[in-house]
Amino acid sequence: MNRNKDTQKVRKKQLIYLHGIMCMCCGEERFDVLHHINKNVKDNNIKNLMLVCIPCHSRYHANKESGKKKARQARHTSTNPLQ
Ligand SMILES: [Zn+2]
Ligand SMILES: [Zn+2]
Repeated sequence: MNRNKDTQKVRKKQLIYLHGIMCMCCGEERFDVLHHINKNVKDNNIKNLMLVCIPCHSRYHANKESGKKKARQARHTSTNPLQ
């Protein structure tokens, strides 16, 4: 059964209706992918879905895949002149 796909089609239409044909991430006037915010592809709640362009979409997933947390480089915040 293709329930899931059908739901996604409907959601896509709803999102286009609500937001127009644009990437909901960068605002480009295009979108290519229906992205699941919580990464659960079965959760087709409209709140879990975003229309995004491919560059934005790969950014979302790149974050996940680069498992290593980018250790925030210790910023030189000690610019306190009083020190
Ligand atoms: Zn985008
Ligand atoms: Zn995605």
